[in-house]
Amino acid sequence: MVTESHSFPTFARWRVTGVTKPSATSALSRALAEAVQIEILLEGEKILRAEQRITDLILVKDGRLRGTEQPPTNSGPGEVVALRDLLLGERIKEDIGAAGGQATIWRIPEKAFRAIARQYPDLSLLLFQVAFGATGALTQALQDDATKWQSLRPFLVASPKRGIIGNSKYATRLRKEILEAARDTSRGAVFVFGEPGLEKDEAAALVHFGSRDRREPMARVDCERAGDGLAAELFGAGSRQGLLAWLGAGTLLLNNVHRAAPSTLGALQRLVRDGNYSPLRTSSRVSSSPPPLIPADEDGGEAAWQSSPARILMTSEQRVPDLESLATLIKVPPLRVRPGDIADLARYFVRQAARRKGLPQANLTEEAIRHLESYTFPNNIKELESILDRAASQLTGDKAVQVPEDVFWFATQAQDRFRWNLLRPLPLLQRLFRSKLWPEDINFKFTAFVYPAFVALLLFGPQDRAHNFGLNLFWCYWWPLIFIVYPFLGRIWCAVCPFMIYGEIVQRWRLAQGVVLRKWPHKSVGEWGPWFLWALFLAILVWEEVWDLPDTAYLSGWLLIIITAGAMVCSWFFERRLWCRHLCPIGGMNGMFAKLSMTELRAQPGVCSGNCSTYHCYKGGPEEPPLGQETGGCPLYSHPAQLTDNRNCVLCMECDKACPHDNLEFRLRVPGVDLWSTHKPLTAELALLFTLLGAVYVHHLPQLLQQLRLDPDLAQAQGPHIAVSTLVLLAPGCIALGAHGLAELADAMSALMPGATAGQGKRVRGKPFLELAYGYMPLVWAGTLAHYLLPFLGEAGRILPVTAATVGLEEWGGGLPVLVEDGSVTAFLQGTCLLSGAALSLLLTRKIGARPWARLAPQCLAVLGFTAELWTLLLP
Ligand code: SF4
Ligand code: SF4
Ligand code: SF4
Repeated sequence: MVTESHSFPTFARWRVTGVTKPSATSALSRALAEAVQIEILLEGEKILRAEQRITDLILVKDGRLRGTEQPPTNSGPGEVVALRDLLLGERIKEDIGAAGGQATIWRIPEKAFRAIARQYPDLSLLLFQVAFGATGALTQALQDDATKWQSLRPFLVASPKRGIIGNSKYATRLRKEILEAARDTSRGAVFVFGEPGLEKDEAAALVHFGSRDRREPMARVDCERAGDGLAAELFGAGSRQGLLAWLGAGTLLLNNVHRAAPSTLGALQRLVRDGNYSPLRTSSRVSSSPPPLIPADEDGGEAAWQSSPARILMTSEQRVPDLESLATLIKVPPLRVRPGDIADLARYFVRQAARRKGLPQANLTEEAIRHLESYTFPNNIKELESILDRAASQLTGDKAVQVPEDVFWFATQAQDRFRWNLLRPLPLLQRLFRSKLWPEDINFKFTAFVYPAFVALLLFGPQDRAHNFGLNLFWCYWWPLIFIVYPFLGRIWCAVCPFMIYGEIVQRWRLAQGVVLRKWPHKSVGEWGPWFLWALFLAILVWEEVWDLPDTAYLSGWLLIIITAGAMVCSWFFERRLWCRHLCPIGGMNGMFAKLSMTELRAQPGVCSGNCSTYHCYKGGPEEPPLGQETGGCPLYSHPAQLTDNRNCVLCMECDKACPHDNLEFRLRVPGVDLWSTHKPLTAELALLFTLLGAVYVHHLPQLLQQLRLDPDLAQAQGPHIAVSTLVLLAPGCIALGAHGLAELADAMSALMPGATAGQGKRVRGKPFLELAYGYMPLVWAGTLAHYLLPFLGEAGRILPVTAATVGLEEWGGGLPVLVEDGSVTAFLQGTCLLSGAALSLLLTRKIGARPWARLAPQCLAVLGFTAELWTLLLP
């Protein structure tokens, strides 16, 4: 509680004189004034306790006091607290304290109160009249007060929502400017200027509530919304009082002053400069045309100028020299020039949003912060707040949660040029995607039963490809087909993959037991997952080469078991498909090549942010008629509106099933468009890309060693074979890195050439290796496919005799038809594949690099060199 000494307040005089005889007024008022003490009560602070006997006269100046009993007693401005108990000398029945904010009271201590009452007997009579209903003029006074607050209410600004958040030099400077304006004792006008979405009205509110006028009312008027009625609203018209008259010495905030009707600009200028205004003659409410700016007067003669003590604050998105020159200018910097503040703002907003939605404490991951910092926020703080609000809507759980980057999406991601939604002309396709058949029935009514038999065949059946139907399927069908599908349907294999079906079976069983599965450790798997899967893939490739997996059935079976075990273990502990999103080596390869696809699944971000409040596509949830089905949400924790590439979408169509707004589009697009537009490059993904290129060379190791004039017997002993294979797998990445280094060196040298002028010699840096190296991707895909075309075209067509051989009918199977082509067709297709891959790689390199060919020469030569070497190995 804060106590101030004070001269007798005008307010008290007004209240008390309203009910006393004029002759007694001044003397009684003076006596009260001399005795009064002012106290400020903070929110919730008690002034009286139950069972206490009240002896002081206590009046409310502003704010509100409330009792604790039901119904509570309420005392507002001008009212005497517990007057009845005071007069009757009774104990009060409840605690009484400030409610709804701080309150100011006047207290006349018991001794002074008794002395005044003895000296002025009218006071006791007056108080009895007030206490027992004879309110008379006091009621009138209160009514006037109520009218004032009622008129102000639609415009009142309660308090600023927050201060200036952030520690950048811009935020620091803004805080300083606001503080200086708040401390301006002359109460000069302030002009707050900045782009949309910068919460300029909040900055203005900070000026008012940081000043010593903070207890005066602050009213806000939107000049754009008020239109031609602005002058009538502010100054009054006819008999109607204007806002300035009600506001008194408060603060007037003119929002969007750059949009004020031009006809009002002169009057606003006068108000800001001199504090003068004149009410209009007619009310704009009854006039269809804008009220003329003619001052009202008694007889239609001269203007009736009035003076307003109100302080004027203005906000604007554009410069308004006529007003700005009369005020202190505060410029609010856009968010894009102070990205250092984004993290602080985002953390604040996500905590607020989580609290509003009744969620537990929410924290942002480092990746999420980086993701936000990479965006320019054209709509500034408002946009950031709505993004965080949307993100919080997608969170679930009852423990503290880490907010991953996947729950953010930005409006600018929707670039629909050259994209064509296939679901409109092909409604049957949409019906399939929304049906239980895709992929639930396929997975759990078919594959779940066939897969164990397949693995058993590999483990216990004949061990070579000519006699094991399973091995033939594995290496001659599955592996080539998976590469053929990438450019068309990206990662669709993962929608029907048997490895994960068993992961899901485990997970469903655990959930049925009532187990609460763990949340993903986003930070660590995001950081180490891609490297883990690369290392696992590298190990598998060495294993495949040295132990000849394509011709050793039980080892191929073990490979499947290992990947399935990974999926099952992760699903045992963690929710959804952690293994598929971050750890599976096949999934990593699928996600990478899916970026080349000519199709994509996306949601329209505008519909998601404008029409959706459930985000069932991401979170999962119950049925939302008429279209939304009950689902568990995206198994990979991807939101279809924020996908920037195909890496983390397996086309399982859970989101399409869940969306009640029919907002999913399965689109045809320019193949690989992600790679030069929105995709996020990953170092570990590039390592995987070059390892896969190395794998094609490793598959032809004896020829390669021969070409390099090395002893082909190196590949005979296990140890050297492992070492050489590993080196060959790693070599293409090193060569590509070297080529990039050469390009950088050439750039640097050209900048130092003696003939280069200052401007010309300035080094223009190319794209970093991390981005540019994705240009190799078509070649790696084409090289791998060219390698697997050989078993696909030369062996897959023998499936019938191989099946017969598997069941011990080899002799009989010799008569079964086969479909294999002679080597020339395969060679032709392999050559075409390689040349196309090389050409696409060159074009993609140019597109990503966005530089002249000459500047990209080392990388282009590397592409051609890799192609030539593949050609000699695949087409000897
Ligand atoms: S990521 Fe791996 S386990 Fe998951 S669905 Fe794809 S291939 Fe199967
Ligand atoms: S895709 Fe559908 S369910 Fe998901 S956020 Fe958008 S509108 Fe909502
Ligand atoms: S975004 Fe949709 S289709 Fe893609 S993985 Fe998630 S739920 Fe499946």
